[in-house]
Amino acid sequence: MITAFDIDGVLADCATAINNFHNAMFNTNLKYDDLTHYDLHRAWKCSPTEGARRMEVFFDSHYFDEMLPYHRMKGVVSSYAKKGKNVTMTSRPPRKETQSNLWVKRYYPKDFYANYHTGDKYDGKGECIYPNKAVACKELGVDLLFEDCIETAVKVAEMKKDVMLIDRPWNRYTPDGVTRISDRIFRIYL
Ligand SMILES: [Mg+2]
Repeated sequence: MITAFDIDGVLADCATAINNFHNAMFNTNLKYDDLTHYDLHRAWKCSPTEGARRMEVFFDSHYFDEMLPYHRMKGVVSSYAKKGKNVTMTSRPPRKETQSNLWVKRYYPKDFYANYHTGDKYDGKGECIYPNKAVACKELGVDLLFEDCIETAVKVAEMKKDVMLIDRPWNRYTPDGVTRISDRIFRIYL
């Protein structure tokens, strides 16, 4: 069995790191539960282009470097490691690949067999140089994905893969055009 884990919002508490960054740089007072949509520009009250620009600044800031894991995920990760192979699957920018792999090694030293970068979002130039998660899950024979982005969960479920959607403030809505998410997507609370 191959189980894939998204990094941001699943293994790593990116929301706290992003809020710390944005509150310091843009004089806001955002809290964890204020991030009620995956697209951060909505919480930041700026355009999508400006939101993408701010994310690029965040990726190269010390707030990104200092991101901490969600400790409750550690037991989940180690239990799946006993069932088969665990991999990470992230859509962070390609330039953050080495740093991301080191982060995984630091906080989950024995739990992951490989790290994959899929390049769905945050590529900075609109170019996708890696396959997206749904394609990657299919090509790699992933059986189950742990994910926090509801749109990605739907795309992966459409590939006949099971998805564990970790309950977060930013995935408690139904995406446009989707009235019934999927019987392959299971919401879990940790
Ligand atoms: Mg994520």
